[in-house]
Amino acid sequence: MPQLAQRVGRAKPSAIMVIAEKAKQLKAAGRDIISFSIGVPNFLPGEHVYAAARESLQRDSGQYGSNRGADTLLDAFLAHIEKLGFTGYGRNNLSIGIGAKQVLYNLAEALLNEGDEITFPAPYWTTYRDIADILGAKVNVLPCPPEQNYKLTPAQLDAALARKPKVFLFNNPSNPTGMVYTREEIAALAEVLVKYPDTWIITDDIYNSMVFDGIGYHNFVHAKPELKDRLIFVDSVSKTYGMPGWRVGLVAGPEVVAKAITTLNSNHITSLPEVITAAAVAAFAGPQDVPRAKCEEFAGKRDIVVNALRAIPGVVCPRPQGAFYAFPDISVAFGKSHNGVRIDSDVDFCAALLEAKGVACVPGSAFGEPRALRISYTCPTAQLQPGLERIQAFFAELT
Ligand code: PLP
Repeated sequence: MPQLAQRVGRAKPSAIMVIAEKAKQLKAAGRDIISFSIGVPNFLPGEHVYAAARESLQRDSGQYGSNRGADTLLDAFLAHIEKLGFTGYGRNNLSIGIGAKQVLYNLAEALLNEGDEITFPAPYWTTYRDIADILGAKVNVLPCPPEQNYKLTPAQLDAALARKPKVFLFNNPSNPTGMVYTREEIAALAEVLVKYPDTWIITDDIYNSMVFDGIGYHNFVHAKPELKDRLIFVDSVSKTYGMPGWRVGLVAGPEVVAKAITTLNSNHITSLPEVITAAAVAAFAGPQDVPRAKCEEFAGKRDIVVNALRAIPGVVCPRPQGAFYAFPDISVAFGKSHNGVRIDSDVDFCAALLEAKGVACVPGSAFGEPRALRISYTCPTAQLQPGLERIQAFFAELT
């Protein structure tokens, strides 16, 4: 039998999906399962998005579209990013993908040769590591433990960039930690970035609309506009507008990068469908009350989650200020047992918690931090408190 390509052997199924799948099976078998495992928003876009999609369907040309994205979408995105503080960009600075995930894959293909180094902080979104592994890039992970609020320090960044990596990948607000960098923290990191002109900077900021406590969303180019010629901003309609299944991701950056992504699109995906494009335009250009309301809801849920976790002796939970995740350090449970089941790792913990209490969380090792687990709190509010109480009970029963 012929062999698969070597790169496929380096590809791992997403750990997040594995837990979600197990939770689904238990549910199908009649168990009462509360899922804190999957990072999808629990809301749908506003009615104007569906109206735009329906109208577009009636006019559908059925044709291939632009590899870069339709002008209507590019213009709506330009107006959107201007509100986020990205000025001086034109259509030639933009391109699209089937969600931010595919944009990130394309970017890695466009920027990294095999063996080139990519550096990013941990905890990181699992896919970063997987994409780098598939493409044969060297990964330099920068550990940011709970003691430093899971945030990268300027000294760490300086040391990493002194190795002259090809790409520095940064995610703010963070999946999985929910951490958000303040204006001052971003400025301090930007101060370091300007010293290393040979490194591309990718900022995956798809949770930029979900920032709490009035700290605002900040990007390195806001602090140092001269970074614009090597900084690439990635956005998506998935989280902001409750549209993960519509699969629209966008990128704004130097023309040469946007052109490279567009060329890859011409070979990978050709274009986005017209109906999807119309829906995304409506999301960006239409009323923003759904994202605003959701941001408020998530801030409230964050408080409930953090308070419940901090009430558990030995659990450390840095306070998230964005997205919809909490990332508690649960290593106090290691070496203990639950109903005779020994817990020596985050994976043991999540498996035992799911089995005993029907609560699904994702082991932190999927994100490069094996002392923690990720709680995604987009579930209905009515499930939140019971789910947290089950986690508290699980801890109380450890021996
Ligand atoms: N980047 C981060 C940090 C994410 O959490 C996700 C999805 O969970 C993505 C990118 C991918 O988003 P999309 O649905 O646009 O592919």
